[in-house]
Amino acid sequence: MLKENYIKKLYELDKKLISLEYAQALISWDSLTLAPKKSVTFRSNALSGLANFYFATLICEETNEMLTYLTENGEQLNDLDKAKVRILKEEYNKIAKIPPQEYADYKALISESSVAWENAKNEKNYQEFSPFLEKVIEFQKRYINYQEKEGHPYNTLLDDYEKGLTVEITDNFFDFLKEKVVPLVKKKSYLNKDKINDIPGNFAVKKQAEFSYYLMEKLGFRMDCGVLAESEHPFTINLSRDDVRITTHYYEDNLLSSILSTIHETGHAIYEQNIDKNFGSSVIASGASMGIHESQSRIFENNFGRSLEFWEFCYPKLKSIFPELLKDIDTNFIYKALNFTKPSLIRIEADELTYPLHIMIRYEIEKMIFEEKVKVKDLPELWNSKYEEYLGIRPGNDAEGILQDVHWSEGLFGYFPSYALGSAYAVQFRQAIAKNINIENSIKIGNFSEINNWLTNNIHQFGRTKTPSEIILAATGEKFNPKYYVDYLTSKFN
Ligand code: ZN
Repeated sequence: MLKENYIKKLYELDKKLISLEYAQALISWDSLTLAPKKSVTFRSNALSGLANFYFATLICEETNEMLTYLTENGEQLNDLDKAKVRILKEEYNKIAKIPPQEYADYKALISESSVAWENAKNEKNYQEFSPFLEKVIEFQKRYINYQEKEGHPYNTLLDDYEKGLTVEITDNFFDFLKEKVVPLVKKKSYLNKDKINDIPGNFAVKKQAEFSYYLMEKLGFRMDCGVLAESEHPFTINLSRDDVRITTHYYEDNLLSSILSTIHETGHAIYEQNIDKNFGSSVIASGASMGIHESQSRIFENNFGRSLEFWEFCYPKLKSIFPELLKDIDTNFIYKALNFTKPSLIRIEADELTYPLHIMIRYEIEKMIFEEKVKVKDLPELWNSKYEEYLGIRPGNDAEGILQDVHWSEGLFGYFPSYALGSAYAVQFRQAIAKNINIENSIKIGNFSEINNWLTNNIHQFGRTKTPSEIILAATGEKFNPKYYVDYLTSKFN
């Protein structure tokens, strides 16, 4: 076959897969925002039909032949097509190495184990979930073998979410945190016994929404290319750079919660909205990795949103929306409330300082699982003892311990580290931005255009055409260096 024909086939495949992903994403968005409760059966059917269609489209001899040819003759391709081939070939290899029946069985197992997890969590009883987790882990171990990669077995899983990430890099990162942050957390928890209360009052949801829209626009969200909705857990979904959807969750008695969520998801959304428009709708037109994505949400949430300058800029607006309820509250109070730290049991409610330790615990446990150093039945005890060791507190039951997160029931091993890496990348990016831009000044006047230009030029525009390490090196002038993050945490919270 001629090279032109292979390229034509590449474009056709790209278009088909993106169309299927578009449909799946839209259905997920609907299910998490507006769909009625009883819609679940038909939706699951439709989603499994689309997943089968996706599998059949990607995994076939014709695709294999085309991707193999274009991989071997890569020098004839332009950079964008090369990136498409690299991404699709990786995706192909990952799935094609799994025996088809086993892959289908695994998909069925995951949907059962998610239900089992939810029931076990409600019952606060790990034993109900344990047999399912055992099977999910057995599959993960076989999956690692099928991929036939050299080095530590857990590297295969880390690399799935963060290209190039290894146990060596992650160990180095967490060792550093363990040495510097764990002692700080223990000291802090002693000093800060009483939690600074959230702002008292009943904050109408409609008015909170008004402030969310104000922030989104100010931060640089293109309002005609996205929407804001409400969901149980806030998230971002990207259909294209011109259609990025975010959600938040409003609590009438907790004003700051929805504000932080909106800032976080806006950071994710701005990333997607600023990918090079020449990429069109293609596999290359989305974020580079989980870690880089999280760095963009965290830089807005932690490094900008929790700063005093940020509240100097936006507090007058918030006060004008809630003049009575906020009349005795100043920016200093909000700054302190947002940066209060105290060890807690639940990851998603953790503060900026203790958050990475929750991730470190999950990382250490996952690593032990794939090194065959712990049995599934012993995981709760391991979990509880690590919380005691690093955070000085012990879960009272499985729901506030090992059952709190959905990830393992869905087979997402290797995923957690990207959350902590994202926060660390964010600090390294912030340092690089500060070499050229007066960040404090820009934030104080609520003008994010210079900052967003930097982020777009150095990170956003490239989509998936660069790997995480290539982005970090080009944007900051050095490899990923956890020192920036640890120094930032120690100087801020000491
Ligand atoms: Zn996020």
